[in-house]
Amino acid sequence: MRTQLFIDNEWRDAASGQALEVVNPATEEVLAAVHAAGDADVDAAVGAARGRFESDEWRSLSARQRGALLHRAGELLHERRREMAELETRQNGKTLFESKIDVASTVETLKYYGGWADKVDGAVLPVNGEDFVYTVREPLGVVGAIVPWNFPLNLASWKFAPALAAGCTVVLKPAPETPLTALAMAEIMQDAGFPAGAFNVVPGDGPTTGAALVRHPDVDKIAFTGSTAVGKQVMRQAAETVKRVTLELGGKSPNVIFADADLKAAVKGALNGIFYGKGEVCAAGSRLLVERSVHDQVVEQLVARAQRLVPGDPFDESTRLGAIASKRQHAKVMSYIAAGREEATLVTGGNAAQVDGKGYFVEATVFDDAKPGMKIVDEEIFGPVLSVVSFEHVDEALQLANQTIYGLAAGIWTKDIQKAFRVARAVRAGTVWVNTYNLYDSAAPFGGFKASGFGRDLGREALDGYCATKTVWMGLG
Ligand code: NAD
Repeated sequence: MRTQLFIDNEWRDAASGQALEVVNPATEEVLAAVHAAGDADVDAAVGAARGRFESDEWRSLSARQRGALLHRAGELLHERRREMAELETRQNGKTLFESKIDVASTVETLKYYGGWADKVDGAVLPVNGEDFVYTVREPLGVVGAIVPWNFPLNLASWKFAPALAAGCTVVLKPAPETPLTALAMAEIMQDAGFPAGAFNVVPGDGPTTGAALVRHPDVDKIAFTGSTAVGKQVMRQAAETVKRVTLELGGKSPNVIFADADLKAAVKGALNGIFYGKGEVCAAGSRLLVERSVHDQVVEQLVARAQRLVPGDPFDESTRLGAIASKRQHAKVMSYIAAGREEATLVTGGNAAQVDGKGYFVEATVFDDAKPGMKIVDEEIFGPVLSVVSFEHVDEALQLANQTIYGLAAGIWTKDIQKAFRVARAVRAGTVWVNTYNLYDSAAPFGGFKASGFGRDLGREALDGYCATKTVWMGLG
């Protein structure tokens, strides 16, 4: 297990002398003390990334060669998939079942952007007159990637893979709770052949390490995923050095079940939408809007199925509800459940749980009779807590769906194609799932509207966030 900083293809002790304790939230056991980067460490990492970005070696590496390095990193990660999935489960508490999916998705993302590297092209422009005018999409420079603890490796790859494909160099700051897979990934990047300084990892907390990266004048862009509150701070701070930012922030996504839906599929989709990843999913369908005429049936089926989702040992292949990622997050989820008990009707779950007397688990929890204005309806909980809100007709469903500061995702369950199109068009969300939920693909852009942020991860669009257009006029007149 790597615990040092990864800077310039070297493993280094933190000059700060600080360390982070990484805890397994399912067992409460301390997994590692990881070096925590201070200002001087961040400066060294940014210096390495800057030096590499400006080096002849990096500039002369062809786009196709860069793509091949990403592809190779994907292959090496695939070879180490079991070990990486286990490490992710140990530090995050998610089930091994889910960690395997995370690692497989990361492999896909690395290979997908490996394929894009030599397809970032420009255009020849039909201007007035004789001059020859063309555009080139140049890499922005040094990218600071700051990511949360819920999908530690996978979300990091959503940033560093397109950044490297575009020709940028990267300093990655993983969340303090979950730095271990990012450090293991550094080993893979080095083994794949990335030159020193192209990919650096500086674990540390937000206010010290993250803020140092955001402030640093030699960082050209911050690619951030995290809470809306911290996203606002990042944006404010980045203004000082006119850095670009993309922000993937929180959500309170509506999952709307119409009476004409395949109710069995909708209920399964609703459960997957909120309980996958223990609900620590930015796009979690945490507000279940249900047409009143099917409300009772839906709630009954939801409760029956939620009760089968028992928190368990994340390493047991049959477990589908792991541990909440940290003690702090566990306390936060339990405080929302306490608020929900006052505001709405608890129909199942609601308790903290342990496995073998240890761990930060929470039962699959469903509140009924929920309404806007309640904390559990308006605020992001980021845990396995579902709020059921009922509605009478499509217009009310739409109004409720959009009654949120967020706009990350939405789900629609109906067999009526016109209704599906109408709601998909009117809902203000970056991703809309119709008769499905929580699907992702490296080719499908993902990101928010409103307070869920701006910029897109994944797909061709993510590359735009790491490129700047240069327009060249060749005077021929
Ligand atoms: P957070 O905002 O507290 O932390 C996210 C990252 O930012 C961490 O690495 C943290 O150390 C760092 N950070 C904290 N303060 C900072 C500062 N002042 N300057 C720079 N960096 C700082 O969020 P969290 O609690 O780790 O994660 C949960 C949040 O992330 C939820 O709100 C969730 O919705 C959001 N999220 C969004 C997406 C998405 O794609 N939209 C995906 C996953 C999680």
